[in-house]
Amino acid sequence: MLRNLKLLDGRQVNIEIASGRIVRVDETEVGNLPSTTHDGPDSTTHLRTVDCAGAYVSSGWIDMHVHAFPAFDPYGDEIDEIGVKQGVATIVDAGSCGADRIGELAASGESAKTNLLAFLNISRIGLSRIDELSQLDWLDGERVGEAVARYPDVIVGLKARISRSVVGDSGIAPLRVARELSASTGLPLMVHIGSAPPAIEEVLSYLREGDIVTHYLNGKPNNLFDAEGWPIPALLDALERGVRLDVGHGTASFSFRVAEAAKRHGIGLHTISSDIYRGNRLNGPVFSLANVMSKFLYLGYSLQEVVAAVTSSAAQWLGRPELGRIQAGDPAHLTVFDVREEPVSLVDSEGIERKANQRIVPRGVVTNGEYMACEVRT
Ligand code: ZN
Ligand code: ZN
Repeated sequence: MLRNLKLLDGRQVNIEIASGRIVRVDETEVGNLPSTTHDGPDSTTHLRTVDCAGAYVSSGWIDMHVHAFPAFDPYGDEIDEIGVKQGVATIVDAGSCGADRIGELAASGESAKTNLLAFLNISRIGLSRIDELSQLDWLDGERVGEAVARYPDVIVGLKARISRSVVGDSGIAPLRVARELSASTGLPLMVHIGSAPPAIEEVLSYLREGDIVTHYLNGKPNNLFDAEGWPIPALLDALERGVRLDVGHGTASFSFRVAEAAKRHGIGLHTISSDIYRGNRLNGPVFSLANVMSKFLYLGYSLQEVVAAVTSSAAQWLGRPELGRIQAGDPAHLTVFDVREEPVSLVDSEGIERKANQRIVPRGVVTNGEYMACEVRT
């Protein structure tokens, strides 16, 4: 049982968890907590009682863009370092692996505390090189089909990084292949955007309802906003078609200037993700999903909007609504966190610093019914 928690709508609750599921959500009044209810051993495994002392609780955070395959350098990290230790119940690896090594990633997910899902890189070599789409030989449709058939519980979409340094001389061709592979597998695309070529308008023209553009707040030339901060027409068209936007902060893809323009024009917010890996976790500017979330509080989004962007919004895209709510009978995936009123320095991918007065700090996480305290450096 987790006691003395606060939902985002202000209700105080105790949450009883047994055998990996939420058994009951009891409303309580502040200062009037019921005593522990279960009285003696039974056949189900009850979670030990944890007093959360007034912390917030949401459904378990989902980070839609991480790199969780440590063998690949620089874009890799250990699953639980970027998952449960940071209050993140579910991570979605964004194309670290292609067909060659997705089996190893899936296997490592089984021994982790964090739930692991993945976008399969359309390049069979994945991020073993950082120009993985520069040779069309690495696009092997048959291998993609086999991987998708073999790991249906892990693979949630296909990843294509469509920017100059990744595609080299291949131009738009890899995205055309990605579109065909999406049709043959029935899976949506997550497309990374960055420097041209290809031009952003051409990239967006390939995307459809349910596809995701990650790095939507990047501050590079060829991004989604013009020099005055207006959304480009191709972006408005894509949104009209049902294309979704993901933050994918990363080392080089989050600009306060662009994020402020997006907020001003009502573009987003869909999903907040970190694009975290060892380097930007230890040295910044990412550090953690919570740190990225704090930047959106600073931008003026409400706590409800920020938390929805890592819970219900992501769960809905995944087609797993139970991952985005707290309801008796559902598997227990929860994040317990505080919003601390204290000065904090937030730095974007361009080295621009903003001083904020609030930060989100995870305290603990429940995955599959087990409570773990977070390891957060303050
Ligand atoms: Zn990327
Ligand atoms: Zn990434």
